[in-house]
Amino acid sequence: MKIPKTSNRFCPKCGKHTAVKISLVSSGHVRGSLKRGGKARMKMRGLGVGKGNHGKYSRKPVGQWKKKVKTTKKTNLMYTCKVCGKSTIQKQGMRVGKVVIEEKGASK
Ligand SMILES: [Zn+2]
Repeated sequence: MKIPKTSNRFCPKCGKHTAVKISLVSSGHVRGSLKRGGKARMKMRGLGVGKGNHGKYSRKPVGQWKKKVKTTKKTNLMYTCKVCGKSTIQKQGMRVGKVVIEEKGASK
């Protein structure tokens, strides 16, 4: 999908529509998060450490091949206001195979 480099969008800081610069940012997984059932969290709670069988904590994790279903990824765009310089992130990404950011004037 082709996306223009600049566009006019609402800026929450300026309170009106301004020219914004569009850039692609990585989807950003949370690093070192202690989610429920996560390996790091379970270790902190004393589960799955030490000797012997610990049931589900002793089992191998499910391979990536088993989880992989979707062939496309959601876009994660960043809009930087050209007036105040504040950046806002895209709220809901679109599922596309490939993102190409083009110069202004090119169609979507
Ligand atoms: Zn602004």
